[in-house]
Amino acid sequence: MHEETLLNVSNLDTFYGGIQALWNVSLEVKHEEIVALVGANGSGKSTLLDTISGLIHPAKGGIEFEGKSITNLDPFQIVDLGISQVPEGRRIFPDLSVLDNLILGSYNRKARSKKEQNFKMVYELFPILKERKNQLAKTLSGGEQQMLVLGRGLMSDPKLMLLDEMSLGLAPIVIDELYMVLREIRSRGITVIFVEQNVRRSLEEADRAYILEAGHIVLSGNAADLREEEKVKKAYFGI
Ligand code: ATP
Repeated sequence: MHEETLLNVSNLDTFYGGIQALWNVSLEVKHEEIVALVGANGSGKSTLLDTISGLIHPAKGGIEFEGKSITNLDPFQIVDLGISQVPEGRRIFPDLSVLDNLILGSYNRKARSKKEQNFKMVYELFPILKERKNQLAKTLSGGEQQMLVLGRGLMSDPKLMLLDEMSLGLAPIVIDELYMVLREIRSRGITVIFVEQNVRRSLEEADRAYILEAGHIVLSGNAADLREEEKVKKAYFGI
């Protein structure tokens, strides 16, 4: 991990129409960190990811990526700069092959020239996708579909990946495998912000975490320290 800041989010307010979903949210992520966003349903985790990736523009505050403002850019420009969001719900193209699903991840300008290199990375990380490349995506298991959406995200040649609820509904052994791959992704120089329902697991897998409640960041710090925090133990571990 480097000490250099990759992403700097400062004082964001985000609204859906008249309803405020994020209040004065700030976070900072360094190169090659793994950072978790933790919080109950509706606390604003997905909204924060959507604001970073440009799907929603904040009413107030700023987002800098590699020292440049991306606050008012469109999502396709943000992908081009190297931020790839993998939304929850495993949105594959069911009637396309695994290969074609992956190719669809590589259409941004930055990724086109690196397609072969990124295919190699995806197939090394997920050998099963190589084995199944000619199969229709809908014939994959849930875990394999999650690997496919992660692979598609990697095909856009990201420096930062935003992962929303990748382990939802998957078997423990598959979840373990996905987290192993996250660490491998980081060791290839890609920074990761992830959202995970399981707070204990988030704090085991991340270097640092931010805890959201009703659109506010209420706690943040090293994941290992947060695991020992009384407030966290009471609110999330039932201790
Ligand atoms: P979950 O774990 O359920 O995905 P979350 O922490 O990701 O929850 P968000 O989905 O970001 O939370 O929701 C934050 C708040 O914004 C909630 O009060 C939610 O009802 C509201 N919200 C989210 N999406 C919309 C929308 N499209 N229109 C209006 N309000 C929304």
